[in-house]
This record gives sequence, C-alpha cells and structure tokens, in this order.
Amino acid sequence: MGIFDHARPSDQAVSAPGEASAKGRYVVKDQPAVAPALAAGLHIVATPIGNLRDMTLRGLEILAAADLIACEDTRITRKLLGRYGICTPVTPYHDHNAAAVRPRLIRRLAEGAAIALVSDAGTPLVSDPGFKLVRAAQEAGLAVTTAPGPCAALAALTVSGIPADHFFFEGFLPAKSAQRRARIAALKDIPATLVLFETGPRITAALADLAGALGPRIATVCRELTKLHEEMRRGELAILADQYAGGAETRGEFVIVIAPPADEAQSAPADVDSLLRGALDRLSVKDAVAEVAAVAGRPRRELYQRALALAKERPR
Ligand code: SAM
Repeated sequence: MGIFDHARPSDQAVSAPGEASAKGRYVVKDQPAVAPALAAGLHIVATPIGNLRDMTLRGLEILAAADLIACEDTRITRKLLGRYGICTPVTPYHDHNAAAVRPRLIRRLAEGAAIALVSDAGTPLVSDPGFKLVRAAQEAGLAVTTAPGPCAALAALTVSGIPADHFFFEGFLPAKSAQRRARIAALKDIPATLVLFETGPRITAALADLAGALGPRIATVCRELTKLHEEMRRGELAILADQYAGGAETRGEFVIVIAPPADEAQSAPADVDSLLRGALDRLSVKDAVAEVAAVAGRPRRELYQRALALAKERPR
C-alpha cells in the first residue's frame, strides 16, 4: 500500500514539481532547498508510515544528495521523491532480488558511492529488507549511517497506554493458525510488553488466538497510525477479539501492543493506590481504571470501586 494513499488532506502536494530537478535539490513547503554534500556509504533512511509530513529534514537531505536510492517498491518511493521534488535515481532492493542486487550495491559503495536505503514505509530492517545489506557493507569496511524516523512499532507503543520500559518486538506472527498458536505459546511468559505487526485480513484470527493463549491481558490495537482513519482500541484481548469478530473495521495496517503478564506487573511495586491517584490527576475514573489495569495487570472490576473512593477523597 502506498504511503500517501491515506494521507490527511492537509498533507497533500507539498512540493512544487519541477522546481528541484538537480542532484542535491529538494522542495519543502514550496521552498527549494539544497542538501549538503553527502559522505560515501550506506545511509539507512526512515520514511513516513502514513503522514507525509513525518519525513525528517535530514532524511530528505540524504535522499536528495545520494547517488542512488535502494527501495522496496520503486513506484512507492518515486511518489515520496516526487512530493519533495527529488530526482535521485532509484533501484529495487527487496526480498526477491536482494541476493543478486546486494553485491552490485556493495561494489558501488566500495567505489565511493553514497547509497540510501529506504523501505515502503517506516524504518528499514524492521520487518523489512536491509539487514544483510548492512552486514555486508560493514564486513566490507564501508560506512553505514542512519537517519532515524517513523516506525510503526514505536509509534504504537507510545500511544498504547501500556508500559514501554521493557518491550519485546515480535514482528509478524505466522500466517497459519497452528504455527501462530505455537509462536504465541512461546511469547506467553516473556516478562515484557509485546509488540506485534498484523495485517487486516488476519487481525481477527490473530486476536482470537492471542486471547485464547494469553488470557485476560490488556492490549491496544492501533490501526492506520498517522493516517486519515487512525483508530485505537484498548481492552482485554478477549473483548478486542470479540469486537473484530463482530465487525470492527479490519481494513488497513495494524500494530497490537499487549501488556506484560500479570505476575510481572504485580511483582513490580504495584502500589495500586498511588497509580490510581496519579492517573486520576489526568483522567476520568473510567480511563484511570483502564490505564492502571494495563499497568498493574489487574482486572478493571477490582480497581473500579477503589478508584471511585479515591476520586471522592480528592479536593474539589
Ligand atoms: N519497517 C516498518 C516500520 O518501521 O514501521 C514496518 C514494515 S512491516 C512490512 C509493515 C507492518 O507495519 C504493517 O503490516 C503493520 O503491521 C505495521 N504498520 C505500518 N504502518 C502502519 C500504520 N500506519 N499503522 C499501523 N500499523 C502500521
């Protein structure tokens, strides 16, 4: 899916096509700009996961000044470049041609080229191609640098309302149910928040399997982050599974963030009162209960009465 297809209306057409056509030139908000010279080497550049304005200035400079951009789908990357008036040549580098293309890229790097690597969206290498290219470049003694930026996993983690201090990034679960269940069983006791990628066609089945194996853990399902139809659903896994089985929107791209196992949360100093007091400073009783349930791994019904009592004690 193209990264611009669902951009908010205000994010459309920030470039002035034709204004920037020479190497190193790009356009931001109708203003032509010239990128500084770029050192030779492989430059890993993150690109937006939906909202075009999430492209970083340094990423733009690198894309404009590079000799070549290696990308998954040249049509998607050309759209990004077109929006910013960048004319750098692109070449495909994806799972199906990587073995053949990688030596050619390494040769060009060794000759002194500056090559940028991007994926269709987000941070290359994170459930995307690039790891073997980075490793080959490093083994050949070539420079590798990064221009960090958007990443769906981290974006979801930060809005999930679930602790982000320890997390385990799983990427995609297997597509087939038997393998998926086996993999979920292996994740069950990891004492950390879990972060998973999922596709629309598989979100309902994946949530059902997660609910079945992980029990009453709180999760946040993030759909279409930074895009027009961005949506977050939060609750116990079984409730989320029911919502998707019952017709919640499954179109789009998803990240599932799951709270740590209850034992882990409870073995932390789970001073529920102080957690509730802190949450009540910012939130309604209902939202405070939901937040603390996720953080402390306690059922909401257990926290609700306590939250009401604490709310009554508060100075008005
Ligand atoms: N490397 C990318 C990154 O850093 O975000 C992820 C690439 S992976 C092939 C694509 C998956 O990322 C999607 O299937 C979905 O799970 C997740 N994803 C990407 N964009 C998203 C978005 N805007 N909202 C929610 N999930 C997204």
